[in-house]
Amino acid sequence: MPGLHPGGRGFKSRPVHKKSFGKHFEICSFSCGNSYLFRYNVGLRLVWNTNLSTAKRTSLEKFRLKRSLDTLTRKEGRGTELVSLYVPPGRQVSDVIATLKQERGTASNIKSDATRKNVQDAITKVMQRLRLFRKIPKNGLVIFSGAIPQNGPGSERVETYVIDPPEPINIWLYRCDNRFHTEHLLDLIKEKETYGILVIDATASALATLEGNRLQVVDEVTSGVAGKHRAGGQSARRFERLREAQLISYFKRVGDHANKVFLPLPNLKGLIIGGPGFTKFEFEKGDFLNYTLKDKVIETIDTAYVGEEGVQEIVDKAPEILRKVRYVEEKRIVQEFLYEIGHDTGLATYGEEEVKRGLKMGAVKTLLLSEDLDLVRVTVKCTSCGVQKQETVKSQALIGYKQSLVGKSCSECKMSTLTLAETKEIIEDLAELAEQARAEVEVISGQTEEGQMLKKSFGGIAAVLRFKLQN
Ligand SMILES: [Zn+2]
Repeated sequence: MPGLHPGGRGFKSRPVHKKSFGKHFEICSFSCGNSYLFRYNVGLRLVWNTNLSTAKRTSLEKFRLKRSLDTLTRKEGRGTELVSLYVPPGRQVSDVIATLKQERGTASNIKSDATRKNVQDAITKVMQRLRLFRKIPKNGLVIFSGAIPQNGPGSERVETYVIDPPEPINIWLYRCDNRFHTEHLLDLIKEKETYGILVIDATASALATLEGNRLQVVDEVTSGVAGKHRAGGQSARRFERLREAQLISYFKRVGDHANKVFLPLPNLKGLIIGGPGFTKFEFEKGDFLNYTLKDKVIETIDTAYVGEEGVQEIVDKAPEILRKVRYVEEKRIVQEFLYEIGHDTGLATYGEEEVKRGLKMGAVKTLLLSEDLDLVRVTVKCTSCGVQKQETVKSQALIGYKQSLVGKSCSECKMSTLTLAETKEIIEDLAELAEQARAEVEVISGQTEEGQMLKKSFGGIAAVLRFKLQN
């Protein structure tokens, strides 16, 4: 059952078809001709069924979440007609419905007939969905509803999305706008891992933690090291020696502070060191940081400032740094595959058919999928005799493929009654198989040379195997 319809966790079960919701369009069936929405909607369903709060998010889960939310974020209303509702856990359904009734009443003052009708329809939809819940799920509830133009003005249809958030959503929000307010959900899926930040130069240093997007400057250490220019009358050599000793004692203090701040953090994923000039390198080279922290240094970068401003500079560059971390991971994953292929060990395979075979046999350890695999798995069904056939086609060719079915006769009963029964992104299709087979799924970007090679030389579908496949 595709889509974000009632039927998932926390819903009363009920069959879903667009007819069951009256004349308003519901994204639930490819028969609407809107393959794009359908495809993403499949992703959405899967996303929220995954228990993300306990497990570390995998590249696949991130891929699904991001895709789904990007799609919702891009939707635009004709005017301020799209309703976003965030309900935190613990609220009474009846209270929320009462509030919505009020909002619907207020909406009757809207002058434009079309806008008024669209807003009221959207609110009504939200209320209908809410009534399917006896109580608000434990992580709260998010509903988006509104008239989305499908094909230019006058083609609006009401689309409704019910989302059971992957983590508690502790805000109340009712908003009518020309877009869906997805930003609070996007916040939820941001990285929750903690990164340590240390900026240092010869005068001072600052220590900070970055958890998700919460930044905290935890500690600051001043050096007391004399400036580079000696006072008159001091011998140059003595001055240098003194300065050196002061610097080392300062480094030791910074190291102690860093160990105290960063070592106890349970989810410390990495440490980023920054600062103007060479001091940061000297500090990093020496034995001032505990070795486990040293191992976690993911990048040493130049900043113009020290102190809080320096920390902020690093935070601004953090997304780029973290992406690099993922690229290193991706390179390693693809290289493992290339090694097995290159050494002909039989412990790797590629191509849709072979990989599927491996998955069905439970032989796949890691499934590698290129992020931009634009392939769709389609199921064609004959409505007369019920015969079904599956095929893989390019996403761009989907419309043409659908048209090609018109007038084509069924291979079994020879009637011209072939229809597209289902479409599914190939990534989802294979990922589902992988989940059943308990294989790791890695969605690999095209940002590295290895990622490009996976896509171009191996068709973007590959696997590292636990054991050899028999022919
Ligand atoms: Zn047939």
